[in-house]
Amino acid sequence: MRILIVGGGTGGTILANNLARRLASEIRSRKVKLTMLSASDKHMYQPGLLYVAFGQMTPDQLYRDQQSLLEPGIDFHVDPAEEFQLDNNKVITKSGKTHEYDMLVIATGSRIAPEQIPGMSEGADTFYSEAGAVKMFKRLREIEEGTIAVAVGVPHKCPIAPVELVFALHDYFTAKGIRDKIKIKYHYPIGRIHTIANVATWAKPEFDRMGIEYETLFNVKEVDPENKVVRSEEGTETKYDMLIAIPPHTGMEVVEKNNLGTGGWIPTDRHRLTMEGYDNVYVLGDTTNLPVSKTGSAAHFEAEVVAENIASIIKIGIPVRDYDGKVYCFIETGHDSATHAMFDYKNPPDLKPSSKPMHWFKMAYNQMYWSSVRGLL
Ligand SMILES: Cc1cc2nc3c(=O)[nH]c(=O)nc-3n(C[C@H](O)[C@H](O)[C@H](O)COP(=O)(O)OP(=O)(O)OC[C@H]3O[C@@H](n4cnc5c(N)ncnc54)[C@H](O)[C@@H]3O)c2cc1C
Repeated sequence: MRILIVGGGTGGTILANNLARRLASEIRSRKVKLTMLSASDKHMYQPGLLYVAFGQMTPDQLYRDQQSLLEPGIDFHVDPAEEFQLDNNKVITKSGKTHEYDMLVIATGSRIAPEQIPGMSEGADTFYSEAGAVKMFKRLREIEEGTIAVAVGVPHKCPIAPVELVFALHDYFTAKGIRDKIKIKYHYPIGRIHTIANVATWAKPEFDRMGIEYETLFNVKEVDPENKVVRSEEGTETKYDMLIAIPPHTGMEVVEKNNLGTGGWIPTDRHRLTMEGYDNVYVLGDTTNLPVSKTGSAAHFEAEVVAENIASIIKIGIPVRDYDGKVYCFIETGHDSATHAMFDYKNPPDLKPSSKPMHWFKMAYNQMYWSSVRGLL
């Protein structure tokens, strides 16, 4: 049985390690071969980018060597997939190598696409990339007064990030003693301040308490860097001194090029996590088209389900578990407090008041992530 995992990020790594342990004897006796293809020899802890943007972490703290995170028995190659021949059970890589498989898992993640909005790449800062987060911190250190506008493109990964960003901005400028000179204005595309209704209800009084202005139904149409204006599809505009954008995302280009899913989002069965039309192809994490948040935690819970099902199919011929849409999010509510939310397909999140211990738990989790991707948590 040949299992091929394409993507060595959060979902792919948790899945590979989980499978390597469940199928250790089958791998030793060569009944099972477990192969991972990835685009990089490094693994990035992406949530750390928000801390880099506020000078609380440096980029080197976000990386580990991918090989060092993998169980022995996983055949790892830095050689990105270029061609998917799903009807022939084959994947062809950049180096020209062909990998045949019996079961395939696609976990290639998503990417920012600021180029979809005219002027966004030139006019806006963003913390959704390493270079962007460092540049944003340099800009934050310089600004002493004026309007910081926050604009949100959709879809994007980590739905909580826009509210965490404004809480962090409030604390950053409060600590610098210049909060009264900085106007923070948040723009959100739908008719409330967050896509998850309970998060919107919880965040609104927090915004009011912190004096954060907001405009809803603001779908970013264009950024005019020369005049420092961001305009909406709805016909409104905001003048800014610094614009921080969460750019819209797409799936990876390779997914689109191979016609696996529009926009790079692969049609996925919401419980079995198989690709529509293919019983031997599983999809994990950001690249699914599922109605769940594009988060590391969703990728984690999905990976556990897929690992259990692939192992049980090998051992007893049938899958044993369904994915229930589970997501768990920490929500940083400033530089020393946080809350958390758990939700799934049926149950919306129930937010608790924020606290300092929850912030310190999140700070500990930033280190525990490396044990988590090894499958030890
Ligand atoms: C600023 C920021 C803050 C975030 N905060 C949180 C948070 O607080 N909580 C949370 O749960 N999530 C958070 N996330 C989201 C989380 O990081 C992602 O949702 C998660 O990493 C998705 O996992 P994945 O396995 O789908 O994709 P990724 O982890 O992105 O991995 C994709 C992998 O695919 C590989 N790849 C790409 N193309 C190919 C190819 N052609 N062939 C082979 N391999 C390929 C890449 O090299 C990479 O290894 C945050 C993200 C950002 C950017």
